[in-house]
Amino acid sequence: QKAEWAKLVNEATTSEDGHHAELAANIGTPADVQGVLENGGEGVGLYRTEFLYMGRDQLPTEEEQYNAYKEVLVKMGEKPVVIRTLDIGGDKELPYLDLPKEMNPFLGFRAIRLCLEEQDMFRTQLRALLRASAHGNLKIMFPMIATLDEFRSAKGILLEEKEKLKAEGTEVSDSIEIGIMVEIPSTAVMADIFAKEVDFFSIGTNDLIQYTMAADRMNEQVSYLYQPYSPAILRLVKMVIDAAHKEGKWAGMCGEMAGDPIAIPILLGLGLDEFSMSATSILPARSQIAKLSKEKIESSLDQILNMSTTAEVEAFVKENF
Ligand code: PEP
Ligand code: MG
Repeated sequence: QKAEWAKLVNEATTSEDGHHAELAANIGTPADVQGVLENGGEGVGLYRTEFLYMGRDQLPTEEEQYNAYKEVLVKMGEKPVVIRTLDIGGDKELPYLDLPKEMNPFLGFRAIRLCLEEQDMFRTQLRALLRASAHGNLKIMFPMIATLDEFRSAKGILLEEKEKLKAEGTEVSDSIEIGIMVEIPSTAVMADIFAKEVDFFSIGTNDLIQYTMAADRMNEQVSYLYQPYSPAILRLVKMVIDAAHKEGKWAGMCGEMAGDPIAIPILLGLGLDEFSMSATSILPARSQIAKLSKEKIESSLDQILNMSTTAEVEAFVKENF
């Protein structure tokens, strides 16, 4: 099997019936890029920038961030790199920010909510990203977007910083796509509205599942509710993909589900454009997709989406694809 996968390193990802999907990787640091390329990643679908901010006692400077982002972009060459702005809070803490203790950290002051409030910190990151954009194929993504207002505010700040940099004579790419994570159910439900304003969606199933099922992703006792193949989750995923395509935009997924062999056939059938996963899952996924017929899966989608339970979905996929 390993030998079969190795042959696919430089191949495109194509289903048996000729449909192309992009397989990208999730990374946490610039050092991870090597593994992405060795495993045949077609891009970086999620660079979690919080690691730059963690394990230290003060905020990273614009220069430090610029160097990290540039390193990833340069190493990836022309391949797309989706960098997510700071997603701190919830399970990830920053001691030096001195944030208040919360009853429900996953429902609290985190990610874009924090960034829109702590604007100096946010603007520093955006400037670093904009400057780095001159060195590769950068796409910027905002985490934990719950309302269109949040997206508009974040994008507004980004464009302000872009204008400032250009006025200073700094080179900034004019083709940076600006997208959002879809990881809050309100945003999945409103995807048709968002799709008119964003350049892309990346579905964050790690959080989308926990918020949809109201089941803490870290709590063993309710882990039975954490069901990626639940028809409820699949319907939301379909809504997001369809909404993107209706506006000519692309939809990716960067939660763990994107690399899950049970989920992959369904996601391929739903028309997911980009699957972002841990680098080591890329070649197995490429090999799996090569044996799948998108058309055949499509013809079963109605049936799958109308199943009553997760167990039925899982059994059907194992039996048929
Ligand atoms: C997600 O929520 O699916 C996601 C990719 O983000 P994180 O795991 O960093 O919360
Ligand atoms: Mg998340």
